[in-house]
Amino acid sequence: MIKDDIAIRSIQHYLYCPHRWGLLEIDCAWAENVFVTKANLLHDRVHNPKASYSSSGKKCYTSVSVYNDKSEYNLYGVTDCIEVTGDEKCNLCIVEYKPTKPKNKDYNFDDLMQVFAQKICVDYVFNCDCDGVLYYADVKKRIRLPLKENFSEYDDILKRTLAEMRNLISKGKIPEIVKNRNCSGCSMKEICMPTLIAPVSVKGSIKKVLERKECENY
Ligand code: SF4
Repeated sequence: MIKDDIAIRSIQHYLYCPHRWGLLEIDCAWAENVFVTKANLLHDRVHNPKASYSSSGKKCYTSVSVYNDKSEYNLYGVTDCIEVTGDEKCNLCIVEYKPTKPKNKDYNFDDLMQVFAQKICVDYVFNCDCDGVLYYADVKKRIRLPLKENFSEYDDILKRTLAEMRNLISKGKIPEIVKNRNCSGCSMKEICMPTLIAPVSVKGSIKKVLERKECENY
């Protein structure tokens, strides 16, 4: 039987690059680079439940396991941190740690969707309507994400993404490489070799066939 539940972190992998997700999820491949190591070091600290603390009117719970077992989601994962403020009516806010802020924008869409999937689980488990922020360690800055304002739009995207992922998992199919993807920061570059197997233009394909024919004639 095909496993139907999906880890929240794999949604970020899929939206960053479906081919990379396929290598990780279906081919069980893995490779690290400096970006992965930086993220691991940052998460080592927050993924310790004993690191929870209280400060000026708020409680911060690190490494909280959450899930949503409704059939349209069937998600599970661990949040870096949930902050709780307010006495009578508690407000919850997810804090997701990232080592580096992207250049020229506040956040990457795949990171936003990772936090949105966490919200779907946190709201389900704690019966709330939580907020979510990204905290960038390099600039020591947090960015609020518009999760409530755009709930329906992100919810549709999440459901479509989960359906695509489940379909690929059931077929054991690794998605093809998407052309023009920025691969410079990807730890799987050596395994994937995108420049060798990336789709070429029609002109390029014809040239390749002709070259092969010439070789066969020798
Ligand atoms: S190298 Fe590029 S195409 Fe290959 S898995 Fe990484 S991001 Fe995707």
